[in-house]
Amino acid sequence: MTDLLIQNARRFPEGTPLALAVTDGRICWLGAPADAPPAARTIDAQGATLLPGFTESHLHIFLGGTALSQLNLAPVTSAAAFATALRDFAQTLPPGDFLCAYAANYELLGPGTRPDRHAIDAVIADRPVFITSTDYHAAWANTAALRLANLLHGATTPPGSEVVMAPDGTATGELREGAAMELVRRLTPTGGRDSTAMIGQEPPLPPTADQRAHDKQTILRALDYCARHGITSAVNMDGNLYQASLFTELADDLPIRVKLPMNLTEDQDAARQNALIAQAQTPAKGNLSFGMIKMFMDGVYDTWTAHVVGGYPDQPENNGPRLISPEGFALLATRADAAGLQIAVHAVGDGAVRAVLDGYEAAQQTNGPRDSRHRIEHIDTITPADLPRLRALGVMASMQPVHPPGSAGLPLEPTTTIMGRTRWPTAFPWRMIADQGTPLAFGTDWPVSPLDPLHCLHCALTRQPWAPDMPDQRLTLAEALAAYTAAGAYGMFAETDRGTLAVGQQADLILLTGDLNRLAETPNAARVTLTLCAGQQVWRG
Ligand SMILES: [Zn+2]
Repeated sequence: MTDLLIQNARRFPEGTPLALAVTDGRICWLGAPADAPPAARTIDAQGATLLPGFTESHLHIFLGGTALSQLNLAPVTSAAAFATALRDFAQTLPPGDFLCAYAANYELLGPGTRPDRHAIDAVIADRPVFITSTDYHAAWANTAALRLANLLHGATTPPGSEVVMAPDGTATGELREGAAMELVRRLTPTGGRDSTAMIGQEPPLPPTADQRAHDKQTILRALDYCARHGITSAVNMDGNLYQASLFTELADDLPIRVKLPMNLTEDQDAARQNALIAQAQTPAKGNLSFGMIKMFMDGVYDTWTAHVVGGYPDQPENNGPRLISPEGFALLATRADAAGLQIAVHAVGDGAVRAVLDGYEAAQQTNGPRDSRHRIEHIDTITPADLPRLRALGVMASMQPVHPPGSAGLPLEPTTTIMGRTRWPTAFPWRMIADQGTPLAFGTDWPVSPLDPLHCLHCALTRQPWAPDMPDQRLTLAEALAAYTAAGAYGMFAETDRGTLAVGQQADLILLTGDLNRLAETPNAARVTLTLCAGQQVWRG
């Protein structure tokens, strides 16, 4: 007798009838419905497609959970719509409370515009407002928020971050990169507890018992939101000791599997780096695993903080900041690699991608090659010369089909112009990376982009070139699905346990109604109706 039988499902892509049995949280049988073994419990799939659960390979769980109660500005593209959205949302908050919004496009006030404190003041001046950009690499504060944070006349911030100043000597309201954004964010209702991991730090004040309880609820809410979208494994992309303590306390209650890396930076002292590496070496517990180091090599194009080879078109002398020195990165990468840890580094500019490849190469030369599965996150741009190095060094690509300008409702500008046309042919090169045989895992960077894997798959299938002479980077549905399942599991060193429908694999399974084959036409072609993690139901819609 098996524990659970899923009857009346369909196999993808064949569409043929399929039944699957689960015992002790693993798939113990699959085959033709007529041959199904007896089971203690049966689920009637009613003809829905059965797939392995999705692995979201790059997201921010704590920030995402926070964003679920903030104003989402993604759809806003005009000053009028901005004013309406902000005023309507303010009505839902107690008077005077901080108003926090996210997913704001750089041109959300209209083409050719850039937000500043005056534009926000014109809508709301009587309470502090903090608006995070769509990529989470910039934010805009109104005058009330800048005053609260004592930033109206500027502040010194670490290299790579900036409180942007106007010619009149006051802050414009734009805050570039985490260290600058943090100066306001720590005054918002979360106290910055959800975001300090992004800059390699702990919360500014030790959290109280109430705050810890609140933050655990935020994390669980985010994971339920994942389960609702068919995600059964998630690789978080920030992490500090505070998050490690929260997740460890939750380990036996996590509805889905979570990998939590520790964020290393060059300016952390030796004691802190040792503590983070020790935490990363902690064994897995329940649905929680560690084993990974995260680093940031640069920022993003929209704020000229991507680290590039050969300057920006409008600033030929500016290569953008490099957040870790060559020696520093080689040292950290070699050390983490020697400790048996997997490394994942944010690299958006072609210079940052090169810097990461150089560091991985240095680590390999010192420690010898091993099955490290070190990753590069994003790869918005890469030079043609560096493209083959991914494969040669055995590096994994972790990419987000929702990120290219022109995809997922993102405007082309200002990104494509700031990036420059010479970089377009190898921008977001999924097709090229897949074709060279480099493992390619997908995610959304939620809350940077919408979490829904079906929407993200739609973007992978429908990517449009920015100019007629640009290469077609679209993937097939099978390739895109593999990047969300088998390759995601590989990226978590879990391919023997997850990512495919096979006997012996963990029963992390989803049922989808609709027709996946129509996903290129519309992201609504299919819908997740059931999510199981280790055979346990974690979502039913
Ligand atoms: Zn990210």
